[in-house]
Amino acid sequence: ATPVAILVGTGRGAQLGILITGPDALEAAERIDTVVLDKTGTLTSGEMTVSDLTPLQGTDAAEFTRVIGSLERASEHPVARAISALTADHAPVTGFAGIAGRGVTGTVDGHDVFAGRPAFAVEIVGGLPEEAAAAVASAEASGATTVVAGWDGAVRGVVAVSDLVRADSAQTVARLRSEGLRIILLTGDNPGAARAAASAAGIDEVIAGVLPEAKVAEIARLQAEGGRVAMVGDGVNDAAALATADLGIAMGGGTDAAMHASDIALAGQGLTPVLTALSLSRRTMRTIR
Ligand code: ADP
Ligand code: MG
Repeated sequence: ATPVAILVGTGRGAQLGILITGPDALEAAERIDTVVLDKTGTLTSGEMTVSDLTPLQGTDAAEFTRVIGSLERASEHPVARAISALTADHAPVTGFAGIAGRGVTGTVDGHDVFAGRPAFAVEIVGGLPEEAAAAVASAEASGATTVVAGWDGAVRGVVAVSDLVRADSAQTVARLRSEGLRIILLTGDNPGAARAAASAAGIDEVIAGVLPEAKVAEIARLQAEGGRVAMVGDGVNDAAALATADLGIAMGGGTDAAMHASDIALAGQGLTPVLTALSLSRRTMRTIR
């Protein structure tokens, strides 16, 4: 039989917008010693805007934003939403494919279009033109997320996108640390963007440039070293890592994939509910013993 305290704890959680899947989640939450945070949409708001746009020589800026904006309208990634908002002139997309943590491809206006992390563009076209490489380097140095895009086998431009660390991130990180927890930022984004967000939130351990399958491997590595790991994420690209962690916590407003993979799903905004979820779990488990 389920102890009454667990029913009370999960019921209290539900009232607070903290959806706990069951007794195992409460038990895991009490025992964790490491908190791994995703960046975009978890530590940051995920409401991204384009901070710099560099169409390469010979590429018309209006055509670039129309083609790329049309392709990205088919994606739900925060980066995609920012790029899609660059134009009101969206063309239809056929053959759309999203590759988690990498980028997107599809056909727009008869062109075979791609947009994604710089390494994704390199896989498609074989290398970055010097002009694009310079734009990527300067965007990453400024702490931006970078997208390299083009069509028909050529890079046509670079887009720098950024968002802000959530208002409650630094305070939440400080509180978690004061409870003795080890805090790590784990992101698919580039090291420059990762470090900028980490320093704004007061995090000193950063693992950046990580593909979704490598996020899982990082969680497993921390566990193999004896860590009892909570992972907090929001994206499709976080789902496998959330499932692998001892405790998966899905952010409010995150993707369905993240919610389904998690042990605790948050309904509210921001990172503060993570603190509430952990303290509620501890109190509940203490009541049982
Ligand atoms: P994070 O771990 O910060 O949530 P992701 O793993 O989702 O980041 O994405 C890693 C990188 O892949 C992004 O920073 C971006 O450069 C690229 N990317 C992912 N999805 C898209 C997309 N829809 N369009 C363009 N680039 C994308
Ligand atoms: Mg994310």
